[in-house]
Amino acid sequence: MGKLIKRVIIVTVFNIVQIGDEILRAKAVEVKRFNENLGRLLDDMAETMKVEEGVGLAAPQVGISKRVVVIDVGDGLIELVNPIILEAKGEEIDEEGCLSVRGEQWPVARAAWVKVAAMDRHGNKFVKEGEGFLARAFQHEIDHLDGILFVDKAIKTKPVKIKGKIKK
Ligand SMILES: [Zn+2]
Repeated sequence: MGKLIKRVIIVTVFNIVQIGDEILRAKAVEVKRFNENLGRLLDDMAETMKVEEGVGLAAPQVGISKRVVVIDVGDGLIELVNPIILEAKGEEIDEEGCLSVRGEQWPVARAAWVKVAAMDRHGNKFVKEGEGFLARAFQHEIDHLDGILFVDKAIKTKPVKIKGKIKK
């Protein structure tokens, strides 16, 4: 009989930074070193996203001002390092939320389709296209890297008709 080897995988689940913290408003720094630390950051971010039941997470949201994003809209994990939007088409308005703005959901107009260029954890460049919800996630997360929150773009419409008395 061989030895039973117990593998212990240590992952960190980050606390999510909330709106009002200035790190969410900073322009995140480009990643230049594709090393173990970056791999660990991506793993921990993916784990945090899973625990928080989010569909996307940007590094500034865990207190790290780097251009790193993870997304999983249900079709598997996507890791984006230094992502940029190359092309955008169409427009779609849909409800959006954010782990850094708890309890708020607002409609936001986004491009319906985007083409994103990014690098993987090893520094290899790739291009990925997304439409609908994935396109929205790409745009929402890349905005985080430039200090933009979805509430900045939200369409906060007032009620068209108010019936009866207005309650205070
Ligand atoms: Zn967000």
